[in-house]
Amino acid sequence: MRSVECVIIGGGPAGLMAAKSLLEAGVRVLLIDRERQLGGQLIKQTHKFFGAKEQYAKMRGFDIAKELIKPIENHPLLEVLLGTHVVACYDGNIVSTYDQHQYQEFQAEKIILATGASEKYLAFENNDLPQIMGAGAIQTLMNVHGVLPAQEVVMIGSGNIGLIVSYQLLQAGVKVKAVIEASDTIGGYNVHASKLRRLGVPIMTNSTIAKGIGTEVLEAVEIVSLIDGSKTIIPCDTCCIAVGLSPSYQLAGMLGVETAYIPELGGEVVLLNEFYQSSHPDLYVIGDAGGIEEASSAMMEGALCGQYVARSLSKEVDESLISDYLYQLTELRNGPYGQKTMAGHLKMKEVNHAG
Ligand SMILES: Cc1cc2nc3c(=O)[nH]c(=O)nc-3n(C[C@H](O)[C@H](O)[C@H](O)COP(=O)(O)OP(=O)(O)OC[C@H]3O[C@@H](n4cnc5c(N)ncnc54)[C@H](O)[C@@H]3O)c2cc1C
Repeated sequence: MRSVECVIIGGGPAGLMAAKSLLEAGVRVLLIDRERQLGGQLIKQTHKFFGAKEQYAKMRGFDIAKELIKPIENHPLLEVLLGTHVVACYDGNIVSTYDQHQYQEFQAEKIILATGASEKYLAFENNDLPQIMGAGAIQTLMNVHGVLPAQEVVMIGSGNIGLIVSYQLLQAGVKVKAVIEASDTIGGYNVHASKLRRLGVPIMTNSTIAKGIGTEVLEAVEIVSLIDGSKTIIPCDTCCIAVGLSPSYQLAGMLGVETAYIPELGGEVVLLNEFYQSSHPDLYVIGDAGGIEEASSAMMEGALCGQYVARSLSKEVDESLISDYLYQLTELRNGPYGQKTMAGHLKMKEVNHAG
C-alpha cells in the first residue's frame, strides 16, 4: 500500500483549489476523480457565472475549469488519478479506489472530501418511466456528450439549476413546455427566469407533478395545482427533475464522522469546525459535499482548506493569504443569496457546541 501526504477526493472547483493551495505550500497531493476529466460540475456549465472577478465571474463554467487546472497541471508534487472511483475510506486513513481494472489502497496523512452533490428525486406515480431524468443527466448528455436528449421537456423545479438547464435546452433547440414550481415564488435568480419568460416559457408556481403518463415511455405529465387541486395534462417526451441537491458525504460516513440534518445546507451534512475538519481529525470536507452552495464559494473553501491542511502538516503557510481568502468568502456570502448558507453554518456551530 502506498502512503501519501494528502488525498483529495473529487476534482471539481473545491478539489482543484484545494490542490493548488496544498501544492503551493509544498504538500504532496494525490487527486482522484471518477470522471475522465477534471472540473466537476463546471465542465457541464455553458453559461457565464455570476459572482466576483476573483472567482472568474462572467466566464463560462467549462472555461473556469481550464483556468483552475492550469496552475496545477504537471506539478511535480501532484499525482492525478482519473476514471477512478473512491469506493471506501477505512480506519487508519485508508482510501480504497477502483478504476475498472484494479483496486488500490492508499494510506493518507490527511483526506479532503470534495465529492460534490447528488440530485434529489421526487416520489410520484410512474416516476420510473423512461425519459424522466435529473437535470444533471440532461446536462451531461447535452453539454458533455453532445446528445440531444429530448424534443419537448417539462422542467420540475425553478431553482437556478432548473432555470439554467431550461435555458440550455432552449439553446439546443428543445421546446420547454413549462417550468413547474411547488412554492409560491421562483427559487432561482430573476435574471434566469426573465430570460425564459421572454422566450415564452410559462413558469407555473404553486404546482407540482402528480404523475407521469405513458406505457413504454413518457408521453405526458399530469400537473396539479397546490391551491385548488385542479389538474393539467402537458404532453411532452421528457420530464426533467431539478428539485435540489444533497451533499455527497457518504465516504465520510464510513469513517464514523458526526453528522446532522441542516436543511439550509442541503440535508444531512458532516459536522465541521471552522477549518473544514470533521470529528475525524484527518478528514476535511469542502464544497457541495459539505453543504450545497455555489462554485465560487466551493473554490474559496478549497483554497482555505488547502492552507489549513498544509499548516496541520507543519508546512509554512502565508497567513495573509488565509485572511484574503476568508475575506473573499465572507464577501460572497454577504449578499442576499448567501443568507441561507450563513443560517446553515450558524446552526452547525450551535450543534457543534451542543455536542
Ligand atoms: C445547472 C447548474 C448551474 C450552476 N451554475 C452556477 C453558477 O452560475 N455559479 C456558481 O458559482 N455555481 C453554479 N453551480 C453550482 C456549482 O457547479 C457547484 O456548486 C460546484 O460545482 C460545486 O463544486 P464541488 O467541487 O464541491 O463539486 P463538483 O463540481 O460536483 O465536483 C465533485 C467531483 O467529485 C467527483 N467525485 C464524486 N464522488 C467521487 C468518488 N467516490 N470518487 C472519485 N470522484 C468522485 C465528481 O466526479 C466531481 O468531479 C451550478 C450548478 C449546476 C448543476
